[in-house]
Amino acid sequence: MKALVVDDARVARKMVARMMEQLGFTVITAEHGQDALDQLDPDDPPQAVVTDWNMPIMDGVELAKALRGTPSFATIPVLMISSEADPRRVAKALMAGVDEYLFKPVDASIIKERLEVMGVYTAAIS
Ligand SMILES: [Mg+2]
Repeated sequence: MKALVVDDARVARKMVARMMEQLGFTVITAEHGQDALDQLDPDDPPQAVVTDWNMPIMDGVELAKALRGTPSFATIPVLMISSEADPRRVAKALMAGVDEYLFKPVDASIIKERLEVMGVYTAAIS
């Protein structure tokens, strides 16, 4: 199982990456949406994308739209984790193609629960 974790904040990116590793994923990381798109391999797409919203160059909503518009990546489950809590803003993310949304801060068990809701199997023990 491979996951792509996208966040411009290094500490947050590393924390989420570590949680995903705890859940059994091999993790690749990106600093913003364009970096994520550059790293995605159409022949070996990840089983989940976990992304921040607010990032320079390409934000998480733009990333979700780009994924949904690309046949090889259109069905990858996308989980957004953001401090953006305005319901109308959250709705915008969901309409852009984000499958599930979590407010920061998160922990591994919260992420696991949500991935299960999304139909993403995790090998986590905890
Ligand atoms: Mg950010």
